[in-house]
Amino acid sequence: MRDEEIIDEGLSEGIYAYIGLGSNLGERRQQIQAAVEALGRSDGILRTRVSTLIETEPVGTEKFPATGGAYINGAVEVVTTLSPYELLKLCLDIERSLGRIRNVKNEARTIDLDILIFGDQCVFENQAEGQLQVPHPRLHERAFVLEPLVELNPTLRHPHTQVFLTSYLKDLKICLRPEES
Ligand code: AMP
Repeated sequence: MRDEEIIDEGLSEGIYAYIGLGSNLGERRQQIQAAVEALGRSDGILRTRVSTLIETEPVGTEKFPATGGAYINGAVEVVTTLSPYELLKLCLDIERSLGRIRNVKNEARTIDLDILIFGDQCVFENQAEGQLQVPHPRLHERAFVLEPLVELNPTLRHPHTQVFLTSYLKDLKICLRPEES
């Protein structure tokens, strides 16, 4: 039971949030590691726990084709006292400090940090830094997002639908490899 765990460790004010990690430019693993370390050093982040990192092919759309080579993807669980929007600002600061320049959607990036889940909260906010939507709108559509999340916490459910993330992942795998179903 997650709540009891938090109280046991004296982290009663913390919320469990999950951040997607991606990099397909430069020293991919080092950049992801640096981003996780920067999160861990930040005020309002009480604890971090990172998933296995996996290599995946870039995914885009016809309108916004992906550029660059293969990604390293993963996710990090954080226990945080920040608000969702404060956490977004922190992620954007870390991206900038690691040299990410935002130009075109889906272009190659040194580091990408996406807030996937923030407790059981559903957030839609527009402020100075831009829009924040949590859970992340494409959370349930991509195996490279779901796999690390499920590894970190197999009991996670989608905050809108309450469907287990393991269930979305199983459906995606059946679609990707129908012969194995
Ligand atoms: P991208 O270039 O695809 O990483 O998009 C980053 C932008 O998406 C940020 O500047 C945010 O304003 C916006 N955004 C909306 N929801 C989220 C989220 N859950 N996590 C991270 N960025 C988000």
